[in-house]
Parts: sequence; C-alpha cells; structure tokens
Amino acid sequence: TSSSSASASARTSTARTTRRGRATERLAFRAETKRLLDIVTNSLYEDKEVYLRELVSNASDALEKARHAALTETPNEEELAIKIATDEGEGKVLVVSDNGVGMTREELMENLGTIARSGSKAFLEGLDADADAASNIIGKFGVGFYASFMVSDKVEVISNAGARGDGKAWKWSSTGDGEFTIEEATESDEAPTRGTKIVMHIKSDDKHLTSKWGVETVLKKYSSFVAFPVLLNGHKM
Ligand code: ADP
Ligand code: MG
Repeated sequence: TSSSSASASARTSTARTTRRGRATERLAFRAETKRLLDIVTNSLYEDKEVYLRELVSNASDALEKARHAALTETPNEEELAIKIATDEGEGKVLVVSDNGVGMTREELMENLGTIARSGSKAFLEGLDADADAASNIIGKFGVGFYASFMVSDKVEVISNAGARGDGKAWKWSSTGDGEFTIEEATESDEAPTRGTKIVMHIKSDDKHLTSKWGVETVLKKYSSFVAFPVLLNGHKM
C-alpha cells in the first residue's frame, strides 16, 4: 500500500560535481510519487489554477510554524508574508516566496521526494477505485506541492532553514520526470536568509494562468482567507 513506503525517501543516488566544484546529488522519486507526477502533468487539465492555492497554502503553513516558533524561540525579524512575483515581460517564470521556517537539505529531500501527505494518498487511492473520481479528489484535497508541475516544465525550490539549518541554502530542482536534484544554492539563486522560494518555469501553453492578470484573478478568489499578507509584485492583495 502507499502508506508502507511513504516514510522512506528517494532511493537511488548518484553524485556529480558541477564546474564550480559543488556536488549535485541526483535522486529518483519513489514509484508512487512518479505515478502521481505523471498524472498531474499529463492528465489533469481541469482546475489547473489549484497550483497557486497549494503553494500559497504551503507558504502559509510555513509562516504559521514560524509564528509559533517565535513565541518560544527566535523572534521573527521581518513581517511574515507571502510574496508572489510574475515575470511580466515573457510570463515564463513565476516565483512564490515566504519567510517561514524554510527547509533543511534533508527536509527538502524528505518532504518533496515522497507522498506521505494525506491528500496525495487519497488521490491515488481514489484513482484506483474510480478513474473518474480524480478531478473530484483533486478539488477536495488537492495534490499539494506537485500541483506546481501542472503549469511548469521545471520547478526549483530554494530554501533556507535559518537558525534551524546548517547555515546554507539548498536548491531542489526537478522537471517532474522521475528525478530531482539537490545542491547548494548559489548567489544567483538569491536564496532567502530564512524561508522558501519556489521558482516555476512555466509551460508555454500556461502563461495566461501565470501572468500578472492570471495570478491576480486566482488570488482574489481566496487570498482573503490567508492569515498572512499576500503581496503580488510588491502590492498587497
Ligand atoms: P502538505 O502541505 O499537505 O503537507 P504538500 O505536498 O503541499 O503537502 O507539501 C509537502 C511538504 O513539503 C509540507 O508538509 C512541508 O513540510 C513541505 N513544504 C512545502 N512547501 C513548503 C514551504 N513553502 N515552506 C516550508 N515547507 C514546505
Ligand atoms: Mg500543502
């Protein structure tokens, strides 16, 4: 069953060294994750806009954890917020960032390499029972982070766990085709000092969804339910 294998992380690993001398680790998604990604990227054409709801909801969860930690541990230096940046020129890149708890290298591998989350599991189980149920389930539970691949050819997650981490920012990257890589973020990634930055490289057919107008339209539907400020290109929604 999906639960028996959900705890372990990706399985294979080969290291290669980049020109700059940093090791890039290449790992395979678990079979279940691969299956989910395949469905998300190739068969779910309806409700594509849920990708944004999922990413905003994850950012909000990370901010909530930071707010909670601030009560007992490190106070937050900046106002906790979600920042979304569209690429008006060509609509090729969309960035969703938060200054929440961030993820360590291990957390990136574990959290984004497996489908331990209940929504994804329910999705796959529902799919086994009845293929037509897929779109109902996605509406109810969503498919979490992997929904980003509905509109992206490639997704990069640059994250820094701040005081919880090893002092480095890490970059997870995948084209959604069975593998992901993990490496230390470089200066050009402009990593946050604490928090997570999701960089989506948008599929050419989906640019209308990720344009400023497209994002604004979707955000207006639910950003008022988000407990933290949501800024679109620097303007509060
Ligand atoms: P869920 O939110 O239901 O747990 P997701 O697939 O949406 O499932 O996300 C998987 C996990 O990845 C989250 O539980 C969280 O640990 C981690 N994660 C995703 N996005 C972020 C983020 N912006 N900041 C910190 N952790 C994140
Ligand atoms: Mg989520």
